[in-house]
Amino acid sequence: MTSPGPSVPWVARYFRQQGELCGSEVFLGELTREEALQLVRPPVEGGQGSRVEGDDEGEYEGEYEALRNEALACRRCALAKTRRHVVFSDGSPRARVMVVGEAPGAQEDKTGRAFVGPAGKLLDLLLASVDLSRESSVYICNVLKCRPPGNRNPLPAEIQECTPFLRRQVELISPEVILALGAFAAQFLTENSSPLGRLRGEVYSYQGVPVVATYHPAALLRNPGWTRATWDDLQLLRQVMDGA
Ligand code: URA
Repeated sequence: MTSPGPSVPWVARYFRQQGELCGSEVFLGELTREEALQLVRPPVEGGQGSRVEGDDEGEYEGEYEALRNEALACRRCALAKTRRHVVFSDGSPRARVMVVGEAPGAQEDKTGRAFVGPAGKLLDLLLASVDLSRESSVYICNVLKCRPPGNRNPLPAEIQECTPFLRRQVELISPEVILALGAFAAQFLTENSSPLGRLRGEVYSYQGVPVVATYHPAALLRNPGWTRATWDDLQLLRQVMDGA
């Protein structure tokens, strides 16, 4: 994993300055305001979470725990032999926003939690810049739940075996919007193989949930020149959430 070096405070400062300068100004790319609004479902009552609390709550928790336990015991592909932990998620299962990355890295494999390495620290800063946090308003997971050895690219068979978990996570969490981090997650969720630079700036749909794509925080650490674009993407995410 790349060391964050001086980039994290630099990016954090940039984001704070942009917040002060731009306020809620947003940049829609090629998407019209109407197109973005069409993808936004009406907000659901219930505090920071996206689901209504009530009679269905126990049933939801049971189904969520069953899915998590199934994933933790999964041996459907060869990654089961090399992983230390299955990394099912981090953050709140009652979140309004679902963040989807590629696959666990070394730190995540060691701890069993998603995005806890240097990229995860930057992710927390990026989320904070649009008033989101993994403690209360964000659910974080990956397309693959187990680490590919040496962080190699996921294989088609691994993606195929793991996809049912992600699909069910989206159904159960029922987020208002999904943030895809990096080219792999963005291409997977949009079913579009264009480079990330071309995918970002638009709102897509995965299982009926609006999807916004941005740079992976690990890539942003290596390329601080992408900070402004990432800022724009987060404004678009916030706009989709706010329905504005
Ligand atoms: N990179 C990812 O895509 N996911 C993680 O959980 C960690 C690093």
